[in-house]
Amino acid sequence: MKVLKFGGTSVGSPERIRHVANLIRQSGRNIVVLSAMSGTTNTLVEIADYLYKRNIPGAQDTINQLRAKYQGVVDELYSSDDTKARISDKLERTFQVLTHFTNCEFTAAEEKEILACGELISTTLMQGYFEEIGVRSVLIPALEYMRTGEGGEPDMKYISTRLNRLLALEPDAEVWLTQGYICRNAYGEIDNLRRGGSDYSASLIGAVLNVEEIQIWTDIDGMHTGDPRIVQHTRPVKQLHFEEAAELAYFGAKILHPTCVLPAKLHNIPVRLLNTLDPEAQGTVIANFPPDGTIKAVAAKDNITAIKIKSGRMLLAYGFLHKVFETFNRFNTAIDMMATSEVGVSVTIDNTQHLAAIVDELKHFGTVSVDSDMVIVCIVGNINSDSNSRFCAQAVEALEDIPVRMISYGGSNYNISMLIRACDKQRALNKLNEHLFEQNHG
Ligand code: ADP
Ligand code: ASP
Ligand code: MG
Repeated sequence: MKVLKFGGTSVGSPERIRHVANLIRQSGRNIVVLSAMSGTTNTLVEIADYLYKRNIPGAQDTINQLRAKYQGVVDELYSSDDTKARISDKLERTFQVLTHFTNCEFTAAEEKEILACGELISTTLMQGYFEEIGVRSVLIPALEYMRTGEGGEPDMKYISTRLNRLLALEPDAEVWLTQGYICRNAYGEIDNLRRGGSDYSASLIGAVLNVEEIQIWTDIDGMHTGDPRIVQHTRPVKQLHFEEAAELAYFGAKILHPTCVLPAKLHNIPVRLLNTLDPEAQGTVIANFPPDGTIKAVAAKDNITAIKIKSGRMLLAYGFLHKVFETFNRFNTAIDMMATSEVGVSVTIDNTQHLAAIVDELKHFGTVSVDSDMVIVCIVGNINSDSNSRFCAQAVEALEDIPVRMISYGGSNYNISMLIRACDKQRALNKLNEHLFEQNHG
């Protein structure tokens, strides 16, 4: 059995839904995880925003537009009037729920309920289509098995027990359909796995069922050497080690949600990135491959702030780094990158919620300076393998006329990170792609 996850663009129109239904039908008896149709979660965020601001007409207008959009989808997707009426009725219940929130107190709990609607709608649409074309699909509601614990981490035991039980109730299903992204929290309230979290849903399901493969179907033929939205002449990477994929996802390769790699890695389940628009394309396989001494891809993480703490006494000052880290720790702020010298330390963070307080504290230990609007560029591959000592040089060479604020090398065998200014990002990424991939591969 496999898990197949289809993202927002893959189910973004009636035509795409029909196309994906055919892909699913041909793939055998699998579990299918769906995202909301593209744009829907953003619209739901917008509705929640109106409700937070008590702009009821704004919320109601947006709900009405969404309802009209889905009425159009229903009209176009189904051929029989009976299916149209039945699915419209089902969707109307979701829209009634949305409307209900315009009349009640609005808190984070209601927001989570609103954000869950996109995946509830897309799975209802797909199931209706399967019924119409005579495929016996069974909807397994994510809200009945996907759950997080008190610290927000997935409750694997609960997920496994509940999901296995729900699947066992439907032994004759040709396809099991379920929602990505949505879950319940430790108190049973509706929650989600964060934006883009359907990839994580697929990986968690794959892990608890120990499936043969997790397939992430999207709108591009696998992980590319760079972000194709800003880099020219990128090409798909055939194979990635779990660690390489995790680094790329963490450092901004949007094709994969950062949390998605770990469950698959822990259970050694290959993850395949595939293109709904070109199903024959090879895509990318992520697995426990032996090191092959190549650079795979470059990713970039935006909105980074660099903090430098200079202390003339650092060499002799025992515990200096401890005090610095402890400060960030106290403010629940994770450090992404660091560089040290005898007189100081530079670190980067992406969560600036407590920046002012952190800087105040750090001033006890030295002189503090802050640079915002920075970007971490992360070059990923078997960086430290003996055969590729030239890669580091090539990376530095590619950025020869771009100011690099920090470099981090050797933290793992899989990445070199460089901190640059946001205004240099596009040029840096294109130069790296040219130097590292185009020149090597013609
Ligand atoms: P889905 O809606 O299917 O989850 P996403 O939009 O989350 O899809 O991810 C796919 C998009 O990720 C691609 O359309 C592409 O623009 C973007 N992307 C960014 N970096 C990369 C990369 N290195 N390789 C491939 N795609 C990337
Ligand atoms: N629909 C959710 C989002 O847009 C989850 C996902 O697509 O993975 O973030
Ligand atoms: Mg995604």
